[in-house]
Amino acid sequence: MTNNFSTASLSIPEDRLQLLEAVTQAMMVHFSKEEAHHDWYYIQRVVNLSIYLQQQEGGDVEIVALTALLHDISDYKLNGGMLDGNAAAARKVLTDIGYDEATIGKVCRIIDKISYKGAGVPDEGSELELLIVRDADRLDAMGAIGIARAFHFGGSRNRSIFAPSQAPELHTSFENYSKSNSHTMNHFHEKLLLLKERLSTQSAREMGEKRHALLQQFTTAFYEEWYFPQAPEME
Ligand code: ADP
Repeated sequence: MTNNFSTASLSIPEDRLQLLEAVTQAMMVHFSKEEAHHDWYYIQRVVNLSIYLQQQEGGDVEIVALTALLHDISDYKLNGGMLDGNAAAARKVLTDIGYDEATIGKVCRIIDKISYKGAGVPDEGSELELLIVRDADRLDAMGAIGIARAFHFGGSRNRSIFAPSQAPELHTSFENYSKSNSHTMNHFHEKLLLLKERLSTQSAREMGEKRHALLQQFTTAFYEEWYFPQAPEME
């Protein structure tokens, strides 16, 4: 699989660019065998979005690029359910590649605050680089690609697309959210349709409008078709 984004255009000194390229190559190998909702194409989209947002909002581009590349290196959905494992795994990669402790520390302080942890679980942290990568990750879970990823994820776990008897749950702990195995339409209510209000930066909020509108149109059409010929019962 190829790498379709270039770190070479970033204003980072040449020696640091080489380190960043080494992280890119390591993550390309790491994610190339993952399922399509969390594969290398997904990481590249989040890196691209993160760099775009950094260009609008400011912040340290090197920290943004590194955090975006590494942010799901040990995601609970892929690692057997261990929560908050990204910092330790990222630390190992960055240390092996030769990064300094200041950079490693900054990435590791923000990396486990990126994931959505449930409708009733507040986001933590205020560092600009964290807000940028978290917004980029959330934008990719919205819109057309967000819809495709959600149904791919549900299919990979053999879940129903919808089951009227199972109401959505707005989780108040990360543990309960991470254990949810409901049908895929519930994921729209427990996460995807809530993301618009959980974007932090102005640039992401602007981009999120169109993606959110598509999620709403899709959800309305889905229930209209499901409940045909009766009008769907909407809250
Ligand atoms: P986060 O880091 O916030 O968990 P990710 O970008 O790692 O977000 O991946 C979340 C994506 O995984 C969702 O947007 C969705 O596409 C998929 N996903 C996670 N849980 C579910 C679920 N229960 N049903 C459908 N898709 C899911």
